[in-house]
Amino acid sequence: MTALPLVFDAPKRALPPRHLADLDPADRRAAVGELGLPGFRADQLSRHYFGRFTADVDAMTDLPAAAREDLAALLPPLVTPVTEQTCDSGTTRKTLWRGHDGTLAESVLMGYPDRATACISSQAGCGMACPFCATGQGGLERNLSTAEIVDQVRQAAAAARDGALGEPTRLSNVVFMGMGEPLANYKRMVAALRRITDPAPDGLGISARGVTVSTVGLVPAIDKLAAEGIPVTLAVSLHAPDDELRDTLVPVNNRWKVGEVLDAARRYATTTGRRVSIEYALIRDVNDQPWRAELLGTLLRRRIGTKRVHVNLIPLNPTPGSRWDASPRAVQDEFVRRVQAAGVACTVRDTRGREIAAACGQLAAQNA
Ligand code: SAH
Repeated sequence: MTALPLVFDAPKRALPPRHLADLDPADRRAAVGELGLPGFRADQLSRHYFGRFTADVDAMTDLPAAAREDLAALLPPLVTPVTEQTCDSGTTRKTLWRGHDGTLAESVLMGYPDRATACISSQAGCGMACPFCATGQGGLERNLSTAEIVDQVRQAAAAARDGALGEPTRLSNVVFMGMGEPLANYKRMVAALRRITDPAPDGLGISARGVTVSTVGLVPAIDKLAAEGIPVTLAVSLHAPDDELRDTLVPVNNRWKVGEVLDAARRYATTTGRRVSIEYALIRDVNDQPWRAELLGTLLRRRIGTKRVHVNLIPLNPTPGSRWDASPRAVQDEFVRRVQAAGVACTVRDTRGREIAAACGQLAAQNA
């Protein structure tokens, strides 16, 4: 097991130039004014970008040519696709994209019978150093800007609408389960949440109920998020019910212990009225023992309450160079049974994108 240091503050690297999606509606009008254009041009531009998912000014034919040229300054290309790979009969699609400075990051679009989900990155790399996660092994390169986060969603929504998954589909769900620790890039991530959930044309108009923010458990940031008034689903990557094991699997546990993280999850559920998700990657002979399943179940029942929590088991995706593997099916079934026996809802996540290294914890663009 590699022991990497925890990194909370991203290295100081230049973020990309200002983009429409960095700005709230008032700042958009101000920015358009700085370009010498009337404020209503900002609303027109927003209708194209947030309402129709268009970032190409040449396609905005309701705008005069001269205005289009000026407005292009607010739509610098930030998230430029480098490669696209598909698997699962075309219903999983991974995009490797490049930022303004050559930074690489990844997003995944997944189609289901009843919904389409974009799994997006909040940082290039990650500083949380979880030893079973490919991204954690590469370290943190830099934060993504608000617009870099939003534009992943905008492009996914456009692709889904244009039939990238087969039938034209509306993007209904966004999960911050790609690269990075979203709560370590707090301000930009929350601004992105507003752009994603505000009704069009202020934002992309995706229901907050369809958005999930997944975290290793940065306790103060969980409390801050609860107070933002954006009722997104919180997912906590627990992976062990006891501090001894969690200290090694999720190194941030050395700072905030299991009990503190679960208390923060309960406060989040109480404040927002949303059920929290507990993520648990099942690793053979590491965290999959029946006694841990029982401890997990009773701990969640006691600390959060059975109505406010749901366990999402993720069969481990082995990452290159790791000696860890997923648990055998019988062990997994027994684990589910014991958590459920404690009265806590528990399901196994369907793992998409295995053949294209787009499955949970495999996004590590620096190796691409
Ligand atoms: N930093 C955030 C979000 C990124 S990862 C977090 O930790 O929650 C999204 C989920 O994938 C997390 O629960 C993470 O622990 C899990 N994951 C990472 N690597 C994995 C792997 N190899 N197999 C299964 N799940 C993994």
